[in-house]
Amino acid sequence: MVVFLLVNMLKYVRGDNMDRVILIKYGELSTKKDNRNYFINTLYNNLKNKLNKYDVKIHKDRARMYVEFLDKDLNDIKNIVSKVFGIHTYHIAYIVDSDSNTIKEKVLSAVKEQKFITFKVETKRSDKKFPIHSQDYNRVLGGLILKNIPGSKVDVHNPDLWITVEIRENNSFIYFNSYKGSGGYPVGTQSKGMLMLSGGIDSPVAGYLALKRGMTLDAVYFEAMPHTSIEARNKVISLCKKLSCYTDHINLHIVNFTPIQEEIYKSAREDYMITIMRRMMYRIMDKLCHKYKGLVIVNGESVGQVASQTLTSMNVINSVTNMPVIRPVACFDKLEIMDIARNIDTYDISIIPYEDCCTVFVPRHPAINPKLSIAESEENKFDYNSLIEKAIDTINTIKVTSEDDNEFKELL
Ligand code: ATP
Ligand code: MG
Repeated sequence: MVVFLLVNMLKYVRGDNMDRVILIKYGELSTKKDNRNYFINTLYNNLKNKLNKYDVKIHKDRARMYVEFLDKDLNDIKNIVSKVFGIHTYHIAYIVDSDSNTIKEKVLSAVKEQKFITFKVETKRSDKKFPIHSQDYNRVLGGLILKNIPGSKVDVHNPDLWITVEIRENNSFIYFNSYKGSGGYPVGTQSKGMLMLSGGIDSPVAGYLALKRGMTLDAVYFEAMPHTSIEARNKVISLCKKLSCYTDHINLHIVNFTPIQEEIYKSAREDYMITIMRRMMYRIMDKLCHKYKGLVIVNGESVGQVASQTLTSMNVINSVTNMPVIRPVACFDKLEIMDIARNIDTYDISIIPYEDCCTVFVPRHPAINPKLSIAESEENKFDYNSLIEKAIDTINTIKVTSEDDNEFKELL
């Protein structure tokens, strides 16, 4: 039945005069057994969603997906496909009948459009009814190219052009290049995490890595206007937009943190201000997880990076919540985090220097090894519960997508 459907749909591809498809090979999900279909269907839906502006058709089977496209859209589509998690590699492949003469004809005409001197042919014959063995067919196609392309030479180790021919039942695929996909699991195969998103370098990278594991995300930004600026907020929205390229959309919850911060500044011991501020953030995150059905808190903490990220500080801060906290960059060097930030295009935004709420009230000597009892007695100097309630009641939520036109208008 599956084969029958596949035959029909690929016939359809070619009936429409499309002779190329994007051939997608799955990432880590190829190791999934029982819920493999769930992963494939999620990937299929994500891809469909992301490509809905384009005239495409997507077909799937247990091993790969095929995207029919219009030539004019190819670059845009490649750009999108490269950001969809769950894809290991993809190829721009010619699709032909699995018939030797047709394959030879197409290989030759396609190869003629390429610039190369040395080449290698690699045949993968999964259709054992095809009468010629892979190795023999490599020689057949190699001989054909040598004869028809003057000056060409075979180099099996380091060829200019690597020609792959996959012979499958009914249809065969011919391609030259492999493109690396983003790997990971399709977004939505896990539940939701609540990302603490500041304007810094680390938290967007943490968000990206969480999405890569298949989680969906809501983001939470604590702002302290007027001590922080509208530009600082816009910077976070821009970062959120970059992250949205990897998922459908992200709801960004903006928390007015000013009253809490001012109260901490007024009441608490200077060296405990950051510890307490972060305990307040975690308390709010805990409540937001329940409110928005997030199953984990995600943040960009990295062990030892600053005073609030020593293991002692993490214990004292973390003790206000029972929610699991995932810290994807906990054990990365800053330079490693910066490399990922550059790759996902968030770095240049992150380094724009606007004040964050954490940097506005920085004590000269924050406690590196805070004590839980001191943190508790310091924060009990004011009624933080009612301030937390108020902060949650006045949250402003923005739906952020990767699209340009609808981005910041859509208040939920
Ligand atoms: P980053 O760590 O992202 O470079 P940062 O250096 O401003 O930003 P840290 O002080 O290292 O942040 O805080 C550690 C983590 O706490 C951040 O990665 C982020 O997840 C969270 N965080 C800090 N400030 C905020 C904020 N204003 N809003 C939301 N989350 C925040
Ligand atoms: Mg940091």
